[in-house]
Amino acid sequence: MPRVLLLLPTTTYRTRAFVEAALKLDVDVVAASERPSTLAANNPQGLVTLNFNDPERAAQQTVEFATRFPIDAVIPVDEDTAVVAASIAQALKLSHNSVEAATTAKNKLLMRQVLSRARVQVPRFWHFSLDEASREVAARVTYPCVVKPVFLSTSRGVMRADDEKEFTAAARRLEQIVSSPKVARRGGELAREALAEEFIPGVEVAVEGLVTDGEFKMLAIFDKPDPLNGPFFEETIYVTPSRLARSAQQEIVDTTSAATRAMGLTKGPVHAELRVNERGSWVIEVAARSVGGLCSRALSFDGGISLEELIIRHSLVEDVSSIKREARASGVMMIPIPRAGILKEVTGIERAKAMADIEDVVITAHLTQELLPPPEGASYLGFIFSRAEAPECVEAALRAAHARLEFGIE
Ligand code: ADP
Ligand code: CA
Ligand code: CA
Repeated sequence: MPRVLLLLPTTTYRTRAFVEAALKLDVDVVAASERPSTLAANNPQGLVTLNFNDPERAAQQTVEFATRFPIDAVIPVDEDTAVVAASIAQALKLSHNSVEAATTAKNKLLMRQVLSRARVQVPRFWHFSLDEASREVAARVTYPCVVKPVFLSTSRGVMRADDEKEFTAAARRLEQIVSSPKVARRGGELAREALAEEFIPGVEVAVEGLVTDGEFKMLAIFDKPDPLNGPFFEETIYVTPSRLARSAQQEIVDTTSAATRAMGLTKGPVHAELRVNERGSWVIEVAARSVGGLCSRALSFDGGISLEELIIRHSLVEDVSSIKREARASGVMMIPIPRAGILKEVTGIERAKAMADIEDVVITAHLTQELLPPPEGASYLGFIFSRAEAPECVEAALRAAHARLEFGIE
C-alpha cells in the first residue's frame, strides 16, 4: 500500500476530508502535527510529530521516520505547511514543488517580484517596512491602493486606502496586527515587511487547479459574486462554473498558467485569485495548496471523487488529467463575521438546511468563541453549501439560506 504524509497545521479544517479520501483509496496515512499525540504510542506508523517551524529539522525527522515506514508522497494540507512539505519532499527525493517555489508562493513580495519580472500582469506595488515613517511611504504610493502584510493569509491585514491619511491609518492598524505575539512569531523576520499595491477594480475569481510536470490544469473557476471593493476583503460566496464569457475564462486560465510557470511550481494543487477588468486579468495571488476551510466540499469530480482524493492520487503520480468536475453548478458561502464579540447563539440552522438547493450548513465557530472580523480576524462563522442546475440558483440559495441564520453576538 502506498503511504502519504499529511502535514496538518493545528488550525486546519481539512484533516477529516483527507483521511476519508485516503481510506477510500486504500492508502496509508501518516498524520504529522506539531504537538505530540498521546495516541502515537499505539500507532507509531500513523502519527509523527514534526517541527513545522524548522523545515530542515522536519526533513531530517521525516527521513529517520521513513527508514522504518517508507513515504511515497508529502501533502501540505494548508498553506502554512507548504514550505516544510517541499523541504521534506526534497530530502526524500520525491517529485514535488521546490523549496524555492513554495517559498515564493508564500511570500507576497517575492511573488510580485517574480511575476512582474516574468511580465505576468500584476498590480503595481511598493515594498515598505513598518519601521519606516508611514508619511514618507504614503507620499510614494498612488491611490487608491491596498495595504497588506507579505506573510499572512485569509485577507488578514489587507486594507484599502484611498489617500495618504487612510494609508497612514492602515499602516498603523497593520502594525497592531503583526505586533501580536502569535502573529509576530509566525512572521519571524518577515513580520514587519509590507506591500502597498495599486487597487485593481473589477470582478474577482478563484481558480482551483493541479500542476503536473510544470503544466497547470484548471479544475474549476469560482466566481465571487459579492463585490470586493474594501475597505476590507472578507471572502463570502464562491460559485462554479463561472458565468464569465468563455474568452475571459480562457484568459484567466492562461494567466494562471503563466504565473505558476514563472513561480517555478511543478507539482501539486494550486489555488489562485485573479481580478478581471477591461485591462485584462490580473494575478492577485497564487498559493501552492488547494482551497481552504471546508470549501473543497463544493467540488466533486467524476462519480463523486473529492478534491482531497484527487490530490492524493495526483501526489502518487497517478494520471488524473481526464477527471472532470461534475456537470451541476455548486457553491459555498463562507459565513462572514458581522461584528466583534462573543458568540452566544445561532438559530435557523435547521430551517436553512431544509431549503431548496441547500446541501448543508456547518457552523464552525463554537458558542462562547470570541469573534473578530477582518482585518484583524481570520476565521468565519461557518459554511453553507449549495448544488443546483445553474450558478444563479446556487447563488440565490446561498443568500436565502444565509438570511435564515441568526447569530447572537454580545
Ligand atoms: P490573502 O493572502 O490574505 O488572501 P490577498 O493578497 O489575496 O491576501 O488579498 C485578499 C483580498 O484582498 C483579495 O482576494 C482581493 O479581494 C483583495 N485585494 C488584494 N490585493 C488587491 C489589489 N491589488 N487590488 C484589488 N483588490 C485586492
Ligand atoms: Ca494567500
Ligand atoms: Ca487571497
